[in-house]
Amino acid sequence: MHNKTITELSAGLKAGDFSSEELTNSFLQRIEEHGETLNCFVTVSGKEALEAARVADGLIAKGEGGVLTGIPMAHKDIFCTKGFKTSCGSKMLDNFISPYDATVVSRLAAAGMVSLGKLNMDEFAMGSSNETSYYGAVKNPWDTNCVPGGSSGGSAAAVAARLVPIATGTDTGGSIRQPASFCGITGLKPTYGTVSRFGMIAFASSLDQAGPMTRSAEDAALVLQAMAGFDPNDSTSLENSVPDYSAELNKELTGLKIGLPKEFFEEGLDNEVAKAVEAAVEEYRKLGAEVKEISLPNMDLSVPAYYVVAPAECSANLSRFDGVRYGYRCENPENLEDLYSRSRGEGFGAEVKRRIMIGAYALSAGYYDAYYLKAQQVRKLISEDFKKAFEEVDLIMGPTAPSTAFGIGEKTDDPLSMYLSDIFTIGVNLAGIPAMSIPAGFVKSKPVGLQLIGNYFSEGRLLNAAHRYQQVTEWHKGVPAEFE
Ligand code: GLN
Repeated sequence: MHNKTITELSAGLKAGDFSSEELTNSFLQRIEEHGETLNCFVTVSGKEALEAARVADGLIAKGEGGVLTGIPMAHKDIFCTKGFKTSCGSKMLDNFISPYDATVVSRLAAAGMVSLGKLNMDEFAMGSSNETSYYGAVKNPWDTNCVPGGSSGGSAAAVAARLVPIATGTDTGGSIRQPASFCGITGLKPTYGTVSRFGMIAFASSLDQAGPMTRSAEDAALVLQAMAGFDPNDSTSLENSVPDYSAELNKELTGLKIGLPKEFFEEGLDNEVAKAVEAAVEEYRKLGAEVKEISLPNMDLSVPAYYVVAPAECSANLSRFDGVRYGYRCENPENLEDLYSRSRGEGFGAEVKRRIMIGAYALSAGYYDAYYLKAQQVRKLISEDFKKAFEEVDLIMGPTAPSTAFGIGEKTDDPLSMYLSDIFTIGVNLAGIPAMSIPAGFVKSKPVGLQLIGNYFSEGRLLNAAHRYQQVTEWHKGVPAEFE
């Protein structure tokens, strides 16, 4: 059962081949068997999942279920879940039980999905390897000596190892796409504002966006459909109506104009990854697409601009964790200042502290113009690059990451080289446009991701292009040997 797609599972549930309770039990069993090896779950909520599954079975029996009713899933531990620990991968929130559900959580529950628990992640979503988590590193199911990518590493590992059919993720600078690439799954970061950020613990509010992490584009379309849509609780939520994503999946790609940014294929890109990406692009040619080289001249500025904007926003967002209202509080504080500084000093990990310090520095009087304002100007240039490119082409393609999954511990002492693993993903967040990563081959038995980038609101077209590719290739069907 664990290798079936949502569509197949849904058909099985409707036909009575198995119940949601049986399905949920079988995934819970897989989590029990493999969850510890991968360290991908922070919380498993088996009892509540089985209760939800029985409710779903009741709806299905009455013919009232939708396509997602009774399908198991799990949430990145950045989404608030009422009555459950929501840790955000941090000691700071290790004792935090959320009093409410994030909109993403309530929408997927309303669609009948059965949550099996919460997934490990980099602390406050800061990281590219899932090694900054308070709960320890997550392992890549394709090679347990390697990282799964980050920050949605628990989500990617769990989906790749078939411990859950789909998971939620968030992407501030690549955190859905890069782990999807490293773990050989499909990940979609929607246009900024498409999915509500209410109840999603904030890292960098102008960049954060939630999306589905699945095994196929077809599944991603179904889950995005339920996640997306206006939410009065999020002032940056778009008031656009949600299109029928699944309806666009099968459109022909004849005449689709694809741009390959030359900046994505320069120095720094692994040769074998480049070959896999080129072979994938060749497949698109066969599907009728026209391919041309384009340029995104300011792309080399995306990482430096991001590492000013994101830390600046995080330093403000994380100021709420002060040991007073909720979260970690130090023992026996001597006075208020001691309470603040020790609670934060003991509650946050090293990477989070580094970002808060960079952000506070960049926003401080005298440096604001030189750093923050400059970074915002660069952000505008990057958006303009994409805007110009989309006057010429319909989609942009390239690698999701410069390499396949790297070894655990390989980059932990070198933050700069860690930051550069997001060099192809970060520009997309700065511009606010949608992008996907889909499996496109293997290098030395480790998955390679192809990145598809679209103009604002082109999720339908992205899913269509991804789906057509998945109909003529098998890369997305690969299962890591130990998890078959
Ligand atoms: N790896 C990037 C960072 O460390 C992006 C993280 C993310 O998208 N949440 O900030």
